[in-house]
Amino acid sequence: MKIVVLSGGVGGARFVKGVVEVASPSKVTVVGNVGDDLEVLGMHVSPDLDSILYALAGLNDERRGWGRAGETWSALDSVAALHGETWFRLGDRDLGLHLVRTQALRAGESLSTVTARFVQALGLETALLPATDDRLRTWIATRSGEFAFQEWFVARGHRDDVDALRFEGAETARAAPGVLEAIDAADLLLLAPSNPYVSLAPILAVRGIREALERRHVPCVAVSPLIGGRAVKGPADRMLARFAGGTSPAHVAGCYTGLIDALVVDEVDGDALDGLGVRAIVARTLMTGADARRRLAEAALGVVPA
Ligand code: GDP
Ligand code: CA
Repeated sequence: MKIVVLSGGVGGARFVKGVVEVASPSKVTVVGNVGDDLEVLGMHVSPDLDSILYALAGLNDERRGWGRAGETWSALDSVAALHGETWFRLGDRDLGLHLVRTQALRAGESLSTVTARFVQALGLETALLPATDDRLRTWIATRSGEFAFQEWFVARGHRDDVDALRFEGAETARAAPGVLEAIDAADLLLLAPSNPYVSLAPILAVRGIREALERRHVPCVAVSPLIGGRAVKGPADRMLARFAGGTSPAHVAGCYTGLIDALVVDEVDGDALDGLGVRAIVARTLMTGADARRRLAEAALGVVPA
């Protein structure tokens, strides 16, 4: 069974890891968000792709929730001592990846090509594709002004309410090589429990990808990032309340109208399915560890016989 997962960073990566653990890793293609990408200290950083890569390779720091396990911070300490930019924290081990990627991009290699090289170097069998190789950047409009995504999320701690989102470059962005082919060839499409507005919307803003989902002949299953109306982490609940008018499963499904056939919702939301409009799959959705994430992946995969 061929599976394509659309994913943001940390929440998405946990789910992706569960999917490759219950399906065959080589049959899974992950399409990652690049709207969060940024330049830090002259380096190109792709936070969501890297979270997925590190999770798949087992290199991620489970407790901190982002970056690499066993990380050290000598380079950043040196940057701080020299009054350089330290708001976006890059560890020593992590830096190595950004150096190689930045060099490759400057030499004219595409983001998808260098990402594929990393996948191979880490011995992974799962394809990891950026949504696009073209420049696509998420901008967040607030009462205090418009900010690049990471400036709002990390530097300002996503405290400002979001008035509007803009995906710079999305109108002309083409899906990266292999993305549309993978979607068209898939037996099952999955939307990870990522933030609908800032992790999955930038992927779906690439017209070719949205159209490929719209014309699907196979099930597409989303997993809700909310449990009991609350985000496990981050601003997804506040954004849903503000943009969709509520945080019920129906409000989550409303982010993906025409794109999904089922929504995996948590057991605590099993009685709150009014107006859902798509099939509900009720499961435990909190990924507390390896068993929990595998069970969640099995629930999402359950729609298609193996
Ligand atoms: P980011 O790009 O690093 O911000 O990560 P994502 O957008 O992929 O994931 C963030 C979302 O994941 C948040 O809205 C969380 O509510 C959700 N999330 C994190 N852990 C879990 C979990 O264990 N279960 C579920 N259902 N959602 C989760
Ligand atoms: Ca992200």
